Amino acid sequence: MTNLFNRQLGDEIPIAVSGDGIYITDQNGRTYIDACGGAAVSTLGYSNAIVRNAIIKQTKKLSYIHTGFFNTEVSEQLASILAKNLPGDLNWTYIVSGGSEAVEASIKLATQYHASRGKPSKIEIISRHQSYHGSTLGALSAGENIPRRKPYEPLLSQHIHHISPCHYWRWGRDKETEVDYANRAAGELESKIIELGADNVSAFICETIVGATMGAVCPSPGYFKRIREICNEYDILLILDEVMCGMGRCGKLFAFEDYGIIPDILCIAKGLGAGYQPIGAMICNEKIYMSIKNHNGYFEHGHSYLAHPTACAAAVAVLEQLIVPGYLEKITEKGDYLKKILKDSFRDSKHIGDIRGQGLLIGIEIVENNKTNKAFDPKYSLHKRFKKFALEQGLMIYPGGGTIDGIVGDHVLLAPPFIVSKSQMHEIVAKLRVAHDKVINSIDFI
Ligand code: PLP
Repeated sequence: MTNLFNRQLGDEIPIAVSGDGIYITDQNGRTYIDACGGAAVSTLGYSNAIVRNAIIKQTKKLSYIHTGFFNTEVSEQLASILAKNLPGDLNWTYIVSGGSEAVEASIKLATQYHASRGKPSKIEIISRHQSYHGSTLGALSAGENIPRRKPYEPLLSQHIHHISPCHYWRWGRDKETEVDYANRAAGELESKIIELGADNVSAFICETIVGATMGAVCPSPGYFKRIREICNEYDILLILDEVMCGMGRCGKLFAFEDYGIIPDILCIAKGLGAGYQPIGAMICNEKIYMSIKNHNGYFEHGHSYLAHPTACAAAVAVLEQLIVPGYLEKITEKGDYLKKILKDSFRDSKHIGDIRGQGLLIGIEIVENNKTNKAFDPKYSLHKRFKKFALEQGLMIYPGGGTIDGIVGDHVLLAPPFIVSKSQMHEIVAKLRVAHDKVINSIDFI
């Protein structure tokens, strides 16, 4: 008997009672190896003593403040560590409780920024198809994860417009080089700005590396350089959503560091609290901050739990571990190793179309036949079968459907905690292989 309103109503899901390293144990003593960090959240595993102690220490001192009255040592510390470790002048951190809140704040900040400089008509937002930016109405409007949007379509903003994502493997044309493809994909932004009128466009928002909707899709070389140029040319803010791909997940503290650009606003969450506390942040540059400061000096936004001290203490303890020299490089090494053993294990399968991603954000695209990369008919819900058969092995993975266009396509996302060992990676791959074989056997027509 439960009074919990579960995601899937009526579902009986296990009660988790403890966590140790990258394993979770349920009330029946069954253990699960976490190959996806929950939802790419857990980066330090479930028993990190440094974060646990920082939380205990902070709650003993002070558990709550309202930011209308106070800041705390830990919120100051968090903002300062972020500013020191961010390139350019991304100096101003607004601390919220999760990814959707960070994205909502970024959309509002962009609107307020343009108004503060006498350009109130700049309100339209451009985003990309096949992306996810969160579940609150503004963030849901920005994203284009079709199943997640569908029930709420009538409520979503009419001021958000979508262009194609950048995914050469799937959308590059015959004989088109990746560089030409990147220019074509980025060119859609310019066309959309011209269509809407630059005087009406506020910002372009995208995930640096696409996570849940397409399964760890990295941009082609040159894509973001061109995007940055277009934003500069038309006076449009660039908002990067690194809620999933940031905080070390892709081998750099921030994924955009690999692409030679700096956004005007950055959204982070998930790995910021590493699962120990719900926390997110929106960080903006000097020009935005100073414009609002010099105008009326007030960001018209807020939540009761902004800059929660316990959450900030956890985030500081997480960040201090990630910025130890050499730590982030190991994430890239581990990710490369995991991709290699996945490729070795699935070499003989005709159903694995692509194994991709960066650092410990890895996507596996499942197809009917990898000679053509034709997807399975969505009626088979392949991704759901993967989750079911993986869980039977005690393996947690993050599956997704609609990988190609929101309806067709299946993928599995792997995002294990950064502390995953080589032998644990082998355990993950072995269990995933068993799940794969069971999934394929469960489909009648093959
Ligand atoms: N942005 C991205 C890229 C995400 O992957 C997510 C969550 O999966 C969000 C935003 C929303 O974050 P949250 O679930 O913490 O609200």
